[in-house]
Amino acid sequence: MTVLDRLIRDLARLPGLGKKSAARIAYHLLAADQAFCDNLADEVAQLKSRIRPCTVCHNYCEAEICPVCADPSRDQGLICVVEQSQDIFTMEATGEYKGLYHVLRGVLSPLDSVGPEQLTIAELIERAGKPGVREVIIATNPTLEGDTTGLYITKLLSGASCRVSRLALGLPVGGDLEYTDKLTLARSFRNRTSLS
Ligand SMILES: [Zn+2]
Repeated sequence: MTVLDRLIRDLARLPGLGKKSAARIAYHLLAADQAFCDNLADEVAQLKSRIRPCTVCHNYCEAEICPVCADPSRDQGLICVVEQSQDIFTMEATGEYKGLYHVLRGVLSPLDSVGPEQLTIAELIERAGKPGVREVIIATNPTLEGDTTGLYITKLLSGASCRVSRLALGLPVGGDLEYTDKLTLARSFRNRTSLS
């Protein structure tokens, strides 16, 4: 197996890439500058050692605390709960939301043996109980698992002093936050429904 074959094989394991797209990328790299390939290889090599979860919200970052948590101009009374770090990227692109985030690192899924202990739910409940937190906005994907996780969190927060709301309106059922357009997402933020 040549290095080209091995690269195609490995790229084809990435989400959304089949063998054909993997081959297209590999041949593109073969024709690209050496500097571009070196940079890419370096970024991939450093990814696992340099990037780690923020100690507050579990968003991926290079420092101990992510740029959102470290920004004093963000509204410290709002916590938007998302499934994955990349959902923050989608949310930030709307420019609509100025509060903080909390990354669950997945959703409850008994079939895949994902229970509350595998997620950052305990940390969220602790954060939500701190003085000054006015609202927890559940922004899990509108799937069965996303809704179940949202309801579970709402139940745990029923005794807390903060309000709980759900980002739902306008989001297609069974859809992914990642594929929702900016305007729809911005509207679903403004029209979020109260759960508590
Ligand atoms: Zn953070």
